[in-house]
Amino acid sequence: MVSRTESRFALDATAFYQGFHLRSSITCITTGLVFAEISHIQSNLSILDSLISNRRIMIFQPTDSTLRTVRLVVKQIGETQLSDADISIVALAKECNATLVTDDFAVCNLAKTLSIDLLNLGTKGIRERRKWVKFCKSCGRGYPPTQTICSLCGNKLRVRYKKLIDSKIAQNQE
Ligand SMILES: [Zn+2]
Repeated sequence: MVSRTESRFALDATAFYQGFHLRSSITCITTGLVFAEISHIQSNLSILDSLISNRRIMIFQPTDSTLRTVRLVVKQIGETQLSDADISIVALAKECNATLVTDDFAVCNLAKTLSIDLLNLGTKGIRERRKWVKFCKSCGRGYPPTQTICSLCGNKLRVRYKKLIDSKIAQNQE
């Protein structure tokens, strides 16, 4: 779709809230879902409109097959904090080989798993890819993210992040 040499930045909602589209002179791409999420900021509407007419912001829709790939990885890492808009912008960044600009931890985690270039606006950043795991506090047994109750002792499961060792999850999906 877009060549790797053409450097582009894919912005999620948090990137717009931080004003990244205002301080960069390069092309920003985003999805319709993200744009719908941010366009309620009335004071910025005229600026957004002019950036769109100058083609400084371009809105694309990722293909269904990329969305499917991304959703599969979301399920695999058990990330529950992601909206459809989040998933759409990660898919678009993947598809366009764009640098994903975000301030959202869950989006960063997903992008890292998919080997997407990241520009994290937050101060904390993300040092390693992690995965949600469910576990029982009483017996210590681990469970997939969809499970809520321990099947051995019936206790409510806790959630924690676990470091991912395999760095090639995304590639194996394709
Ligand atoms: Zn248990």
